[in-house]
Amino acid sequence: MNLRNAANLIESEYLARKAEADANYRAAMEEHRELYEAEKAVRCAMLDGKSEQEITALEKAKQNIIDKLGIADVVTALPRCAVCGDTGRIGGKFCDCARRRAAKESVGDSAPPFSFADSDMSVFDASDRELMEITYKNMKIFCDKFPQTKNINLLLIGNVGTGKTCLASAIANEIESRDYSVLFLSAFRFNDICLKYHTSFDASRSDGLNALIETDLLVIDDLGTESLLKNVTLEYLYTVISERMNAGRHTLITTNLNEKALEARYGERVTSRLFSNRVCLTLGLAGKDLRK
Ligand SMILES: [Zn+2]
Repeated sequence: MNLRNAANLIESEYLARKAEADANYRAAMEEHRELYEAEKAVRCAMLDGKSEQEITALEKAKQNIIDKLGIADVVTALPRCAVCGDTGRIGGKFCDCARRRAAKESVGDSAPPFSFADSDMSVFDASDRELMEITYKNMKIFCDKFPQTKNINLLLIGNVGTGKTCLASAIANEIESRDYSVLFLSAFRFNDICLKYHTSFDASRSDGLNALIETDLLVIDDLGTESLLKNVTLEYLYTVISERMNAGRHTLITTNLNEKALEARYGERVTSRLFSNRVCLTLGLAGKDLRK
């Protein structure tokens, strides 16, 4: 996606959220007489040319009512980008948020809609349940601390059907809800983006790779299922995650390969740099296949 379209998308999404908030506000005024009166008082004061001080006091009284009703979230739509106010542009140039958005759209994936609230521990065997509860709790803490976490990389190891994609999605969605940028990609897609970069020469070739490097959290799901492409897979996995680590950015990888199998497939250089205990928190998920 080009920058103009990305900026327009940011702006139109903001206007849509704003229109929804305005509609919610009108409905709230109908429902709550005191809010209607407070809004009317502000407008009358403006029309009557009251002093700025008086208007501010009335605005504050109105805001207090909104807070008391607990509806601030649904009746206000703040722009997500404080720099450009979600116009995607600043001083005749495109804002960084448009650049990030364009890159994200060109890469394309997003996490499955799974959250911590959806997690159902009853699907696990009694023997696995305790471990999974602890794992989920630790991952919630990881999200709470993000980006100030002890480890910069996170490796979730589990067999097919142990819920590692669900857990990775919950983490991704939780962090994205806190306004960090997140890219969630299958290992296959990650490989594909790197291959495209490696083999193309057009002007936009680095968009995809930059998106991989610049996002606050990169999730690579099911590492080990992609093909090993010569001069691409190992090299870009190493380069992308190394660059991310140098910039203090987090990467979460899920795989069904154990540490030994990872080293056999990706080599000592990759595993010691990306997955050593110093930089990576490795968690094994319960072994039972939930889909059986
Ligand atoms: Zn912006």
